[in-house]
Amino acid sequence: MRILVIEDEKKIASFIKRGLKEKSYSVDVAFDGDKGFFLAEINPYDLIVLDIMLPGKDGLFICRELRKKNIAVPILMLTARDEIEDKVSGLDSGADDYLTKPFAFEEFLARVRVLIRKKDKLKITKLKVADLELDQLSHKVRRAGKEIELTGTEYALLEYLMLNANQVVTRTMISEHVWNEDFDSFSNVINVYVNYLRNKINTGFDKKLIHSIRGTGYILKEE
Ligand code: CA
Repeated sequence: MRILVIEDEKKIASFIKRGLKEKSYSVDVAFDGDKGFFLAEINPYDLIVLDIMLPGKDGLFICRELRKKNIAVPILMLTARDEIEDKVSGLDSGADDYLTKPFAFEEFLARVRVLIRKKDKLKITKLKVADLELDQLSHKVRRAGKEIELTGTEYALLEYLMLNANQVVTRTMISEHVWNEDFDSFSNVINVYVNYLRNKINTGFDKKLIHSIRGTGYILKEE
């Protein structure tokens, strides 16, 4: 897996690079937008980490230009402290996800894994974990061949958990990927929906598939 990091803050760039290399990703770094854009055009990356404020071409411009050229590489945008407008324009420009600086490396790595896995699975429309099957085209869910009725939110939550099977998914990740801007982070809506889902997916079967990780989030896996 080859990742391009376009980030002019050298400390952040080297922190990301070191962390990714430890996880055996190969990493290229560009400290300005012009070099970053050049590298992104000529190399087949699995992911680009793209800061917005850069010397030379800025992140939003780079993202839009790559999409115009039909370069479909997943792009994780880095934004300065909670600038909601940056997030919106980042996603509008064709980025796949965003992360607000400063961030914990674990959170960053979780996003990277999700984006890379999503890319690998673009062509697959059926997700399967143990005897649980989800069809992304028809939105039908079956466990042990038996159809399970889900609401829209329950479906989106299950799909997200299955795309990240065997990985811990944090509440923050769920709130940002399954819920929209209206999400109230102080409510316990995620717990409520996970419980609904658990009742439908776990109850009545020998093996539990959805598990809580205390204080962190959830994981979908075979025990
Ligand atoms: Ca910057």
